[in-house]
Amino acid sequence: MTNTKQVVTRFPPSPTGMMHIGTARTALFNWHFARKFGGKMLFRIEDTDRARHSEEAVTALINSMKWLELDWDGDIVSQYANKDRHAEVAQALLNTGKAWKCYFTQEELDAIRKDNGGFKLPKRAELEKNYTPSQNDTFTVRIDTPQAGSDTVHDHVQGTITMQNSELDDFVLLRSNGSPTYMLSVVVDDYDMGVTHVIRGDDHLNNTFRQNVIYDAMGWERPEYAHLPLILGPDGSKMSKRHGAASVEEYREMGYLPEAMRNYLLRLGWSHGDDEIISDAQAREWFELSGCNKAAARFDFDKLESLNAHYIKQANPERLLDICEPIYQKRHGVTPDFAARTQIMACIDELQSRAKTLIQFVDESAFFAKSLPIKMDEKAQEQLTDEAKTLLKIVAEAFKTLPDFTAQSIQATIKEIAKEHANGKMGKLGMPLRAALTGTTQSPSIFHAAEILERDECLARLNAVI
Ligand code: GLU
Repeated sequence: MTNTKQVVTRFPPSPTGMMHIGTARTALFNWHFARKFGGKMLFRIEDTDRARHSEEAVTALINSMKWLELDWDGDIVSQYANKDRHAEVAQALLNTGKAWKCYFTQEELDAIRKDNGGFKLPKRAELEKNYTPSQNDTFTVRIDTPQAGSDTVHDHVQGTITMQNSELDDFVLLRSNGSPTYMLSVVVDDYDMGVTHVIRGDDHLNNTFRQNVIYDAMGWERPEYAHLPLILGPDGSKMSKRHGAASVEEYREMGYLPEAMRNYLLRLGWSHGDDEIISDAQAREWFELSGCNKAAARFDFDKLESLNAHYIKQANPERLLDICEPIYQKRHGVTPDFAARTQIMACIDELQSRAKTLIQFVDESAFFAKSLPIKMDEKAQEQLTDEAKTLLKIVAEAFKTLPDFTAQSIQATIKEIAKEHANGKMGKLGMPLRAALTGTTQSPSIFHAAEILERDECLARLNAVI
């Protein structure tokens, strides 16, 4: 970077619902970029569309940012709160003749467009030469875009892009009710907030040329731009609900860790050689806008899952249990108390190695927190046939007299009983034992689990089913 100014990026979502993962990725890239240069990332809610405004959506955006552990600088800015300032800039442009009052009605404008072959409105000079508005009480304020020449943007991701000024229409700055348009508000806010780098989705690339007209008309320095390509679903169409989960909230619900999500979203559209596992610290060191891919990235659920498995394995166990607390409650109606947490900790390595999601982690460890009678899932129930119960009776008898109740001795006993009563098939005993002790068919080593539960609890759980 040659710029010596402090880097200021911004994250300006419109509050329309849950945070889309594409929006989350935009936030992440702005965050890494700002943090890398010791700059700031500002958070602005683009809430000027009052008809569709929802406080719930604002809360959802904030919660998703917090969950992703992406922090921002200063207070959250409401774009709507700045509307007078936006109108003031429109007035300044009217004063300098760089904007004009358009008295044509919507119907007249539609007719003029039709006259001109369809979609584009002629610029001011031509309009005023060839048409006369029928009314003169209400008006919109439109920018006076340059007639001739072209504009070139050096985008950090898309490269050098040129647009002919003839392509630009005199777009609206203030609606007839005096409210500012997105095009005006975003430029005024970005300028007032000192934004140096606009990093956003490439659906805004065309807007860049319009926004630059406003910067130029005000004599303001333009920011630098980086337009990120869309995120596609595995089938190549725009990532949406149809593909499964498209919002940050849904991934949280499915048991992904925020650091796995950050790593995955970082790699989705940015690369550093063949590196897949990239910590925040490493990302900060390596992140360059030039490393962003120009082509759209496809969402790959398997990759996300394998990253999640990696981060679950690495996570601090206490933190993991804290994060999982609401999941235990939601899925199993239990909250592991101190004793259950201690038991979970006793086989934490195995639980962490097995789990691809927090849901799996919870489902495979909730039995420690359950009390009698242990609720059985369907598959566990299927295991408990009459034949299995007969075998479990023998197991219970043997457990009573085992001199030491360790995984090793438990395993040896089961092996012996299997030899004597089940043609040596350990599975005939192992699965029913797991069902009886855990209420599930998926768990860490059942011998180790039994040792952790201890003899009395194992006997109680066995007696409850036989
Ligand atoms: N509010 C816009 C959006 O959510 C962002 C516009 C921008 O980044 O300039 O798409």
